[in-house]
Amino acid sequence: MRTPMIAGNWKLHKTLQESSGLVTELIPAVADNRTVEIVVAPVYTALSKVAEVIAGSNIKLAAQNCHPEAQGAFTGEVSPALLKDVGCHYVIIGHSERRQLFGEKDEFINHKARALAVAGLGIIFCIGETLEEREGGQMFDVLRRQIRYGLKQLSADQMAGVVIAYEPVWAIGTGKTASDVQAQEAHAFIRALLAELYNVQVASATRILYGGSVKPGNIDGLMTQPDVDGALVGGASLNADDFARIANFQPPG
Ligand code: PEP
Repeated sequence: MRTPMIAGNWKLHKTLQESSGLVTELIPAVADNRTVEIVVAPVYTALSKVAEVIAGSNIKLAAQNCHPEAQGAFTGEVSPALLKDVGCHYVIIGHSERRQLFGEKDEFINHKARALAVAGLGIIFCIGETLEEREGGQMFDVLRRQIRYGLKQLSADQMAGVVIAYEPVWAIGTGKTASDVQAQEAHAFIRALLAELYNVQVASATRILYGGSVKPGNIDGLMTQPDVDGALVGGASLNADDFARIANFQPPG
């Protein structure tokens, strides 16, 4: 009942021409895929161009970040309304690179989440523990904290627009993927937490993506896990063949 999502986070890569070339290659490669929601998140400057190229296809647009305020003296920032205006369906927030490199805290991420929900944009909300936290036995506490504070004040109705991406920091861009069992363990914990914080309906309807070195060679295994509803893909989303193979994963069974 949960539509799988495969989302590509292009991070700080690709010129306008390269971005448009990548989606132009991707469109026919995923055109027959009617069962998966496919999303790409280019750099801000390529959003408008990519929106134009994917119009009428089954690929949706996401932004990699936003600022929570609607307008004002926030030099260099982009609001939810402007992202909606350019054609975004989703916005990624809470990515570990934003948390680690730009010092974003749960409270600020929560401010963005609330602003996006009000603007009617979908949210891809990233959480995940570092290796140190995992090895120190704090993984579940970290995930609990990130969800409790990051999604604070979002109503059960607003949760319909939220997709959670579990991305263990030690697996992002490192080539080390969580095993299928490790991913399932974290996802099951997240789903149980949603039942506790909201209710069983929200828990069973919310999609939980796995992210961290997802490749054509490991997606099928990850998707056999009952609580893995898709993937947030970094490096492998920069190549049309690889990303198409991930989006066209072989369903379990
Ligand atoms: C990401 O940036 O969200 C990510 C998962 O990157 P990679 O697939 O390269 O590990």
